[in-house]
Amino acid sequence: MVRAITVAPGVADSLRLDDAWPEPHPEEGAILVEALAVGICGTDHEIVAGEYGEVPPGADRLVIGHESLGRVLEDPTGTLHPGDLVAGIVRHPDPVPCANCAVDEWDMCRNGRYTEHGIKALPGFARDRWRLSPKFAIGLHPDLADVGVLLEPASVVAKAWDHIDRISQRAEWQPQNVLVAGAGPIGLLAALLASQRGLTVHVLDRAPTGPKPALVRALGATYHTSTVDELDFEPDITVECTGAPTVVLDVMCKAAPVGIVCLTGVSSGGRIIDFDAGALNRAMVLENTVVFGSVNANRRHWELAAEALGRADPSWLGSLVTRRLPVEAYAEAYHPGMDDIKVVLDFAR
Ligand code: BGC
Repeated sequence: MVRAITVAPGVADSLRLDDAWPEPHPEEGAILVEALAVGICGTDHEIVAGEYGEVPPGADRLVIGHESLGRVLEDPTGTLHPGDLVAGIVRHPDPVPCANCAVDEWDMCRNGRYTEHGIKALPGFARDRWRLSPKFAIGLHPDLADVGVLLEPASVVAKAWDHIDRISQRAEWQPQNVLVAGAGPIGLLAALLASQRGLTVHVLDRAPTGPKPALVRALGATYHTSTVDELDFEPDITVECTGAPTVVLDVMCKAAPVGIVCLTGVSSGGRIIDFDAGALNRAMVLENTVVFGSVNANRRHWELAAEALGRADPSWLGSLVTRRLPVEAYAEAYHPGMDDIKVVLDFAR
């Protein structure tokens, strides 16, 4: 039996710690892993609030947790070795499969029948032991033991940058500056990847104090607390990580000619804004602007993310984890705090 943090999706505040959850079923994969850490993000908060999430077929509760780090206990396939650090890929391809899932580009699934650990119809990683098949296991360098739990959010950002790079190829274009809206984990990791590309990086966030301004400056980037409209430059590339409807519209309007705007923040919807869509359309057409959405990551992006984390300053990465709590304090961990960047549940203590 293992400890597991579970929810009844669709039921608000049903989060609980189950002390006698069944061991992971061998059908979940040949690699047996001991959990080290689970990261918590906005999607988890939505699941806990009963607004998102789906149980596995035949189950009545979902083990939460899609940001994982663990240590291999056994791998009879020989792909990984006992003691190796490992993270689990979140999404599995749809069973049909659609054209993208058929080539393992499950992040681009077209029919919505994909499954996701800890989110949609697959058990998550917030349990003492879990299993994976080699296809969904990413081995990590031993140096990443403290920060490897950031691999999942980094994979989402690596996918966003992969698509920005591919879209960039449509023109003879040398982007100089990047605006990242939102200095949460996704925004800060997006800024990290931008700085690794040698771009001039600007990060905009509401927080005037707390750890964010210094983390941004440590990347050699500029921190702004103004509105997007008040910025004195037009970004060649924007990575929107707030999902706040007015910020989303503002960054679309602010883009430089031939600019690219990548949307990664998931808005909750239901807020109506009075907005001149015609003027935005006119500007986008006349300036060849691209606005696109980006979610999830395929194996290639997970590998790119592991490289990016490996090249980053480990103490900078470590500072993104602003709270690390033992499993027993799960209720506190899943309760968002004002100055949180990344909250992590520590399964190893
Ligand atoms: C996860 C993605 C997932 C998305 C939608 C995000 O929080 O990082 O992997 O695809 O939620 O469920």
